[in-house]
Amino acid sequence: MNPDLLKPSERTHTTQPPPKPNRSKSEATTKPEVVVDVEGKRCYYKGKILGKGGFARCYEMTDVASEKTYAVKVIPQSRVSKPHQREKIINEIELHKTLQHKHVVKFSHHFEDEENIYIFLELCSRKSLAHIWKARHTLTDPEVRYYLRHIISGLKYLHNKGILHRDLKLGNFFVSEGMELRLGDFGLAAKLETAEQRKKTICGTPNYLAPEVLNRQGHGTESDVWSLGCVIYTLLCGNPPFETLDLKETYKCIKEVRYTLPQTLSPSAQKLISAILQKNPADRLTLDQILTHEYFTKGFTPDKLPPSSCVMVPELNP
Ligand code: ADP
Repeated sequence: MNPDLLKPSERTHTTQPPPKPNRSKSEATTKPEVVVDVEGKRCYYKGKILGKGGFARCYEMTDVASEKTYAVKVIPQSRVSKPHQREKIINEIELHKTLQHKHVVKFSHHFEDEENIYIFLELCSRKSLAHIWKARHTLTDPEVRYYLRHIISGLKYLHNKGILHRDLKLGNFFVSEGMELRLGDFGLAAKLETAEQRKKTICGTPNYLAPEVLNRQGHGTESDVWSLGCVIYTLLCGNPPFETLDLKETYKCIKEVRYTLPQTLSPSAQKLISAILQKNPADRLTLDQILTHEYFTKGFTPDKLPPSSCVMVPELNP
C-alpha cells in the first residue's frame, strides 16, 4: 500500500465555485459547495446528505466534468487522529478496493484533504433494507427470498475470497435504483483466520452477534450466517429475535438461543430460521444449504421487485 495514502496533506481544498452559466437566478444565489481533488484534478458538487454513520457522514456528490453521481463517505481527519482509528479506515479502503461483484457496493476511488477523507462509492439510490423495513415493518416470503438470493450471492463471493463481513444488518444491505441489493460497509470486515488465530474481541452490532462471538471463540463464516438468520427473522417478524430492554439480558438470550417463533410465519420460514439459529456453528446451515432449503425450493422467488415495494406490499405473480 502507498504509505502516503492517508497522510494529511494539502492536496485538496473546499471552495465555492462560480455559478454554472445555465442556472436560474435563484439557484445561482444558493451556490453549491464544491470539493476539489487537486491531485486527481477533479471537482465535485456536494449534494444532499444520505445519512450519518459512526465515523462518517455520507453525501451525494456529482463529478462536475462527467456529471456522474456517487455516494461519498466523508470522514473528518479529527475522527481519525489516533493511529488505530486511521488503521480502521485504511483497512476498510484497502479491503473494499479489492471487491468486484454485482451484489457488493462498488468502490470507486478515494482521496483526502486537510479536513476530511473522502470515499467514493456507487450510489444506491434506494438506500438500504433498514429504510424499507422501517416503512414496511414486515416483508412477504417472496420478497425475502428475492433479497436473500442477492445477499447470499454477495456473501458467498466474500467468503470465497476469505473475507468475513462481521456486521451484517439491514442498514448494510444497500438497494440500487433497479432494486438490486448490494452488500456494503466493510468497516468491520476482516480476512478469515484459523480458529486459533482469530482475534477474540467483540465487534459488530449487539443484536446480531453470534453466541460464539459473545463467548469469545472468534468469528467464522458461520457467525456471518447467524447474523443472516437474525436478518431473516427481523424482515419476516418485524422485530429482531433477541431484543430486550437490557443488553446483558439480550446477550444471555443469544447465548441460550432463547427466542420465539411467531406461528404466523410460514412453516418453511420457521424451519429455515431454526436451522440457522443454532448455538453450535457447525450445526448451522451453510449458505448453499440455505439456497436448497425448502423455504426456497417450495416457494417462488420473483426475478424483479417493483420500486413501490419499498413502501407497500407488492402484488407478485408466480
Ligand atoms: P454506518 O455503517 O455507521 O451506518 P456509513 O458511513 O456506512 O455508516 O453510512 C451512513 C449512511 O449513509 C447509511 O446509513 C446510508 O443511509 C448512507 N449510505 C452509505 N453508503 C451509501 C451508498 N453507497 N449509497 C447510498 N447511501 C449510502
